[in-house]
Amino acid sequence: AKLKGKNRLQFFNRDIAGGIQRKQYIERVLIKAIHHGHFNLVYMPIFDSQNLKPVGVEVLIRAPSLASKGIGPEEFIPVAETTGLIKDIDAWVLNESLSRITYLTDKYQFDGFFAINISAVELHNREFPQMVKSMLLKHQADPSRIELEITETSFVDNLDNSIRQLNHLKSLGVSLSLDDFGTGYTAFTQLIEFPVDKLKIDRSFIQGLDEGASEKKRMVDIVLALADLYQLKVVAEGVESEEQIEYLKYRGCEMLQGYFLSKPLSWDDFQLLIEQSHSS
Ligand code: C2E
Ligand code: CA
Ligand code: CA
Ligand code: CA
Repeated sequence: AKLKGKNRLQFFNRDIAGGIQRKQYIERVLIKAIHHGHFNLVYMPIFDSQNLKPVGVEVLIRAPSLASKGIGPEEFIPVAETTGLIKDIDAWVLNESLSRITYLTDKYQFDGFFAINISAVELHNREFPQMVKSMLLKHQADPSRIELEITETSFVDNLDNSIRQLNHLKSLGVSLSLDDFGTGYTAFTQLIEFPVDKLKIDRSFIQGLDEGASEKKRMVDIVLALADLYQLKVVAEGVESEEQIEYLKYRGCEMLQGYFLSKPLSWDDFQLLIEQSHSS
């Protein structure tokens, strides 16, 4: 049935209102979760492509009170960013991660890296590097095993300022990793200006490896060549098949991450993995 103009407008308004209500709902739940520390981390291992041993882990946040409503970080992190709540969330994740890596190091002689997602908003916050510095001190954490994952979209606003901020972070001894690489706006020639250590090839390109001689496959080849040229490490994200592993290994991609190798693990399961990989 055809909708008359006025009706269509009403439907439209209702959708927008629904969207705003949903965001306000998420904001309310996040404020409570921050207040009570109601967040969790899950641990997604990153593997050496040659021997498939875990060499590091990406920590990913979970909010149980939102997860029960089907709302994950893909949706609540952007709300946290527009409401200013991200500052507290990123600080919580950093504090929790540093405490966990210190524990694993003491208990299992774990020597892998922890990769922590940092919002673009925080990257531009002048107080952020100081906060990282004091947390490293608080936990006596080895900065060389801490990696901050940032996205290229964080740079579009103010390139010079971004680079200054990245250099400040690097001076603390932490590594920087460019997340979702290939989906943003960075001209490849600009890459050389960013003081990053690692590229993470976005999942969408890895999925494209199944399509035969595709545009996405060429993109993977180009990123690997580029990483070689600039001496950057590379992680392939979203690896979901044996064929993808074979191809990436053959092309010299150093590290792999994805559901085929491991889903994000609970703290207990991640400890088991570390314990096992140490004894084998
Ligand atoms: P991201 O940083 O690109 O993280 C990777 C996301 O892809 C994770 O979803 C992970 O579970 C998923 N993934 C990894 N491998 C595969 C695969 O093989 N197949 C499929 N289908 N998915 C895979 P998650 O945990 O829902 O996180 C979504 C996004 O939320 C993250 O994307 C990141 O942008 C943001 N995020 C997560 N945790 C944090 C955090 O602690 N702080 C901040 N600022 N952002 C976070
Ligand atoms: Ca990430
Ligand atoms: Ca990513
Ligand atoms: Ca992402």
